[in-house]
Amino acid sequence: MGVDDSTASGPPPASLRDDRSASPSPLDGEGPGRVDLGVQALSDDSGTTAAGPLLPDPFLHVGDDRIYSPLTDRLLVDGDPLYAALRSVLDGSGSAERLPEAQRRRLHADRWLLRDPAARAYDFRLKYVSIETHTVCNQRCFFCPVSFEQRHSHFMETRFFERIVLELTAWRETIEAVWLMLYNEPSLDRRMVEQCLTLERAGLPAAINTNASAFTPAKTDELVAAGGIGFLSVNLSTFDRAAYARDRGADQLDQVLRNVDHMKDRPLAREMVLMVLGQRDEDHERQIAAAHQRYGGSRFRIVSDEIMDRAGFLAVGRKVRQGGGRLAGCENVGSRPLQHLHVTPHGKVVLCCQDYDATHVVGDLHRESVAEVLGGERLAEMRRQAYGLSPAAEDFMCSSCVFALRDHSAVAAGAGEPTALLPVLG
Ligand code: SF4
Repeated sequence: MGVDDSTASGPPPASLRDDRSASPSPLDGEGPGRVDLGVQALSDDSGTTAAGPLLPDPFLHVGDDRIYSPLTDRLLVDGDPLYAALRSVLDGSGSAERLPEAQRRRLHADRWLLRDPAARAYDFRLKYVSIETHTVCNQRCFFCPVSFEQRHSHFMETRFFERIVLELTAWRETIEAVWLMLYNEPSLDRRMVEQCLTLERAGLPAAINTNASAFTPAKTDELVAAGGIGFLSVNLSTFDRAAYARDRGADQLDQVLRNVDHMKDRPLAREMVLMVLGQRDEDHERQIAAAHQRYGGSRFRIVSDEIMDRAGFLAVGRKVRQGGGRLAGCENVGSRPLQHLHVTPHGKVVLCCQDYDATHVVGDLHRESVAEVLGGERLAEMRRQAYGLSPAAEDFMCSSCVFALRDHSAVAAGAGEPTALLPVLG
């Protein structure tokens, strides 16, 4: 998006709520009309009114040979003169004022350089949404907090879900997926198919991460008949029945395989992934090979990932190796603080998918709009902490998270690529 297309950030205009009723609803007349805020909230930094020097966007992900902006989704790579110019400003060997005018103008227009970087904390580029529509899971996977801390059963009201979907249509151009889960099993909700269709009809790609135990052939057929969904990931960590029962507290491998067999050659989703989670050991390799043997050549793309400890919440899994240093951002399927919205079944918005206990709440959609939460002060402050612009609170989650970037110099070459659309827990 060019600089001229930007809209004001921070809390939405006072007229927003009134405007809703004037627009047509994509949900058969239910709920408010479309909230048209543009596709992205960006602070006004056009340079026509703002004074002061041009400074780098403080939310950049800086790698050894590339610089990525989560707020514009732009990437500069080594070899591009603009990369070298921005790099010189970032490392202090140059300044924006000393750059050739054409480069300075370009970097400003593309929002690498800003006159009011502090306002950037209120900006976002909404690419991914997770709406956990209920709290229930039928498994107790050792790599998930549900295994030792169950929640009370709670289902999000359908009208509330539809209202959130309606608001999300304001960012239809940037949203790439709306997941119906955080720590629940979405296929246990008999409304799952209808929820997916509500999203798809609203022009938002529905995304499901599932253990597939309750994703019956009937549900697959219904979704296929309706045109499918945007993204499906099946979390299948072992093909050994005894190990499956042990790892997940549920002897469900046979029914899972029956359900996955039914999906494998059907256009259930535009992108279908079979995720093999493990601990990067020999058994993990065996299970990846078994997945290829059974589902290679099907519609499923087989991928693997290492279990991680969910920001220190779990005793198992990959952990932060090198603590300390200044927090410098987040790279978990893009940037969670800048590109994601996570909604719990109770309507609370939390900073991140790692927050099982909802300790980092940044909003409440029963009281606020999506735009108000995304542009609000609580999320802005969490963004500052996650990117090292404010001191991190003692219990700040990112400090114990494997996805946290630390200091620009600590970012490995290759960091800064927009992350593939892959789940970290299914
Ligand atoms: S806890 Fe981890 S994944 Fe979540 S926002 Fe912080 S760095 Fe990102």
